[in-house]
Amino acid sequence: MNPTLQLSVEPVDESVERAAAHAEIISDLFRDFVTALPGETVLRRDEPLSRRTTLRVGGPADIYVEPPSETALATVLELCALRGIPWFALGRGSNLLIRDGGIRGVVVSLAHSSFSRIVPAGDRLEVGAGARLKTLAVEARRLGLAGLEFLEGIPGSLGGALRMNAGAMGSWTFDVVERLRCMNRRGEVLDLPVAEVEVAYRSCPLLRSQLALGATIRGRPSPTDEVRACMDSYSRKRWESQPSQPSAGCTFKNPLPNLPAGRLIDELGLKGMRIGDAMVSEVHANFLVNVGQARASEVLTLIEHVRNKARQLRGVELETEVEILGED
Ligand code: FAD
Repeated sequence: MNPTLQLSVEPVDESVERAAAHAEIISDLFRDFVTALPGETVLRRDEPLSRRTTLRVGGPADIYVEPPSETALATVLELCALRGIPWFALGRGSNLLIRDGGIRGVVVSLAHSSFSRIVPAGDRLEVGAGARLKTLAVEARRLGLAGLEFLEGIPGSLGGALRMNAGAMGSWTFDVVERLRCMNRRGEVLDLPVAEVEVAYRSCPLLRSQLALGATIRGRPSPTDEVRACMDSYSRKRWESQPSQPSAGCTFKNPLPNLPAGRLIDELGLKGMRIGDAMVSEVHANFLVNVGQARASEVLTLIEHVRNKARQLRGVELETEVEILGED
């Protein structure tokens, strides 16, 4: 009788090998950054992103970097390209849902003050992408410039508002933009008149692949009191209609111009629906709020639940306005 030869072969787990190879490249890239970037750069490994998003959920970024200048920013993008590692722009994190596994790659933030300048010139303002929208609206008011009041209550940066073509109260960001400055993946700067930039409802497709550096914004000279009165009335409307708990603003785009997503979700009876600590706001049904220690997975399950109900009961396909990034 021939004994049967039993070969025991260790199964090779490809995902473990891939993760190890990725970790090694990330370590090399981090060393590249330490060597090449100036001392004022904020540079971190495994940075938790939950504290950098308004929804307060999300795992860590492999590398988080705040370059202090455009030259340093170009170096970051070039080194990412050389190592084949993706980068993601982070503004103030007010339109982001980062998954619990975090982001494999580099998160680039323009939070350094050199990207937040607001320089007035007549009825125009040269504004850096890192500037807060509220600061921009208040500065326009101080200068007696109308047209930017709608930006006051949007808790983002100009960069995020340009990418999202953020809007409120019947206006959107590109209504007031004259020129857009951005940096491409090779670290080259482009300065474009707005007529050459494609924009859509809650999107500027060019900025999916490029980083906004800033914009020339134009206001209309107006008495400061009028600008103030308009801003105050917008602010009151927000306080009355929006929840105070952590959120990422409106979760879904309006499916039709005459069908706001919030009204649809309300009509579906989903206000107050809760999965873990993620809840459909009782105040505004298009806001999914974090009522405690929500995980991204809970918010995502709630999003899917709302989408399924809209599809089954009303035949409406809801698309998220919130950007969903990262890994489970
Ligand atoms: P982030 O959330 O950090 O990023 C959003 C997107 O922009 C991401 O894809 C990111 O990669 C990209 N991005 C960020 N910076 C850059 C850059 N420099 N270059 C290229 N891409 C970049 N939105 C509205 O439109 N109207 C509202 O009325 C409104 N109200 C809100 C109210 C609340 C309480 C909250 C929490 C959110 C609200 N939002 C609203 C959503 C959000 O504030 C806006 O979309 C805002 O413009 C996002 O800016 P941000 O800097 O936070 O961008």
